[in-house]
Amino acid sequence: MAEPTPTPAPASPEAPESTPDDGFVITCQCGQVRLRTPSSTPIGICHCHCTECRRQSASAFGTSVYFPPAEGFYPLDPTLTAPGGTIGTISRPTDSGNTMYCYFCRGCGVRLLHAVILPDGSIRPRVSVKGGAIEDPEGKLDWAGAKHIFVRSAVIPLSPTWETYDTTLANGPRFVPAKEAK
Ligand SMILES: [Zn+2]
Ligand SMILES: [Zn+2]
Repeated sequence: MAEPTPTPAPASPEAPESTPDDGFVITCQCGQVRLRTPSSTPIGICHCHCTECRRQSASAFGTSVYFPPAEGFYPLDPTLTAPGGTIGTISRPTDSGNTMYCYFCRGCGVRLLHAVILPDGSIRPRVSVKGGAIEDPEGKLDWAGAKHIFVRSAVIPLSPTWETYDTTLANGPRFVPAKEAK
């Protein structure tokens, strides 16, 4: 029997000319960490005004850009987080009984990713990339579509045009009149 000859797929005349979506580069302040998101279309973007995110980001709120775990993205290459690797890890229990793993650059300390592991060891299907660590020179990220969560503890004025939630997305949107914000 003859060897099967691989036949190249015929070029589709409708195939778009666009380049493959190879995601965004995630980098830190010193530049020694370079990761890549699995695509340039996140599941969602949230600005979180909770006290944990304020402290973690040392800013008024923290920004999460969510992507699904995927090969080449998360779980991270273990050599990166091994002793001597560029990425450090801390973990903490969450209110919902899971464990959050937080990844940061060992050179400059910048927080890069948060991933939640459930009690059965599975990965919650959305990994948070810290928004400011995403390189987006072409302006592809839809920042305007971001949701504001935990606005009950917000320290900045909230625009009535923003989609806001008192706590998590689970308790439904609330549009806050700007005058209400402290
Ligand atoms: Zn760094
Ligand atoms: Zn938060």
